[in-house]
Formats: sequence, C-alpha cells, structure tokens
Amino acid sequence: MTTLDDLPLRDDLRGRSPYGAPQAPVPVALNVNENTHGIPEVVAHDIVGSVAASIMGLNRYPDREFSELRRDFAAYLGHGLREENIWAANGSNEVLQQILLAFGGPGRTFLGFTPTYSMYPLLATGTSTRWIGRNRQDDFELSADYVSRVIGEESPDIVVLCSPNNPTGTPLTLDTVRAAYEASPGIVIVDEAYAEFSDPGTPSALELLPGRSRLIVSRTMSKAFAFAGARVGYLAADPAIADALRLVRLPYHLSALTQAAARAALRHSDAMLAVVDDIRTQRNRISRQLAALGYRPYRSGSNFVFFGGVDDTHATFRRLFDRGILIRDVGIDGHMRVTAGTETETTAFLDAMAALRS
Ligand code: PMP
Repeated sequence: MTTLDDLPLRDDLRGRSPYGAPQAPVPVALNVNENTHGIPEVVAHDIVGSVAASIMGLNRYPDREFSELRRDFAAYLGHGLREENIWAANGSNEVLQQILLAFGGPGRTFLGFTPTYSMYPLLATGTSTRWIGRNRQDDFELSADYVSRVIGEESPDIVVLCSPNNPTGTPLTLDTVRAAYEASPGIVIVDEAYAEFSDPGTPSALELLPGRSRLIVSRTMSKAFAFAGARVGYLAADPAIADALRLVRLPYHLSALTQAAARAALRHSDAMLAVVDDIRTQRNRISRQLAALGYRPYRSGSNFVFFGGVDDTHATFRRLFDRGILIRDVGIDGHMRVTAGTETETTAFLDAMAALRS
C-alpha cells in the first residue's frame, strides 16, 4: 500500500495532521459550533426556488464578481459598507486562505493569540507562512497593552484576532483591536465568525474600518445563519483588499448554486437569525449549571462555552459519546468546549454532566 512517505510531498507538510474534528452520526452533536436549529421551512422553500431557477443557467460560468451577493452582504452588515468593500468565498476558511495567499507566503509571518481557532496554523502551513502563536493572558483575555507589546515584538505580516475567540468564547474590546492595528505593520484580521451571538449592543470591528485600509473583518454564514453546509464566508474591508484577493482566488470560485442559495438566505436574515436569542439563553444556562456542578466556565460572547475543571477529558468525551452526545476535546488539559444547542439538546448535555458528577 502506498503511504504518504512514498509520495513526493512538500517537506513542510511531512508529519502534519489535517483538520480533524470528529464527524459522527450522534443524536446530540455539540462539537463544531453549528447552529443546531436548522433552517425554517419557509426559508428552505425560497432557497430551493432560487437554486432551481439558477440551474438552467449552469451551462455558463457564474458571475465571477458575485456582485449581487456582495451588495446583499453590504446591506446586511450596514455601517455604510458597499459592494466594493465586500469579498466572499466558500466558507470563511477559504476567505482566510485567500488572505494568507495574498499577504503571507514564504518568508512572511502570521501571528495569533493561543488557544485560538485551530485552522489558523494549518492555513499558515498550507500557504508556507510561518505561524507565531503567542499565549493569551489570564482567563484567556487580551488587553490592548499586551496585544500592542506582542505585536511590537514580533512585527508580523498578518495578525489574526478572533472575537469572540474560538475555543474560549472570549470577546475583545474595540480598544484592543485599535491597539493591534496601531502596533501592526501589516494586515490585521478580526475573525468575527461568532459576532451575531455577542450580547446585544456589543460593538463590531466593522466600526473601525473607515480610514484603516489594512483592517479586515471576516464573517461567516456557517454559525448564526445556520448555513454551514452551504459554505459561505465573507469579509468587509477597504476595496483595495478585494483587489489583492482577486489575484489569488480561483476564477468563478463561488458557484451559481452557492450564490443563489446565499442570496435567498440573506433575504430572510430576520427569520434565519430568530433563534440567536434562544441560543444565547442556552449558552448562559450551560455556564450557570456547569458552575453549579463545580466546573469552571469562562465568559462567552459566542454560541459555545469553554470550561475547565474536567479531571479526565478523554473519559468525559467517551462517557458523553456513549450517551449519544458529542462535545469537543480541544487538547487543552482539564478543559472542554460545548456548543449551545436547542433546549432539548442542551438539557441532554447538562443531565449527562450531572450524572458524571454523581
Ligand atoms: N473562524 C472561526 C473562529 C471558526 O470557529 C470557524 C469554524 N469553526 C471558521 C472561521 C470557519 O468557518 P467557515 O469556513 O464554515 O465559514
């Protein structure tokens, strides 16, 4: 049998592991921060109609500039953004990859504050960019002073600030983002994949875009929009950033089917986001009840809770799995992460955790 070692693989990929969150058909999957509520039926029908209407045109390549979709994203985000400020790709993972292809690469560096989203170092490897992971502060927080100091020390080509941060849930203040931008010589990405779950009134880094041409705010339809399977991520930035990404994207990278589905979903953004309040309620319930059971949940502005105080993460994972519940062991000693599901799913998780304690 041929193994990877037999192939003429790039030296810097040897010994690396791919992204590998378990995918198992369990009744209660709370391990990849999806919106577990599913798509409202009326919205699903409209999406089907829009996708069906695009099918007769599939003999032609799709709009390479996905202009209408960009206009729709600009309208959704507000903040005075226009079509030319928006870019999109097949999930925000691809958006981030395109940013690294354009602004990273051999001899360049990409800095993030760990623990953070596990794809960042993998995207760095794939684009031959050197990843620099610097620790977060106590309780996984990041102050403006600390971020400025670290960026000053490392002088990275690209910085990523994940807010709220995956896997810890920690939101950042705009002061921290401003400080990162001022200290940074290069591109600053604020990954707001989970922004819609932040408590009402929490400001977005979108506010900081005017006058900051090196700042990029990345978003996705995979989380609050319950659209992970459609693979649609996007960003807002100075129009020159889109010009840079056009140099590295594959032509026609967003299929006509994807564009039609995303536009239909955006037409129903109120209905698609109607469950966000309920998810926040379940998140807060998880935090309260885990604390009551003696675990240590960290503050979360997201749709998941990161908690410490787990004696044996492998055993906890396994015992929950045996009850049909999947949560995430992120490889940090004594800590685990769980996504807030529907009320029923959340109850199943909390009951199982209580049973483990008794
Ligand atoms: N950023 C963060 C912080 C994430 O947690 C995720 C998904 N887990 C992504 C980006 C990528 O999401 P997608 O490619 O589905 O948009």
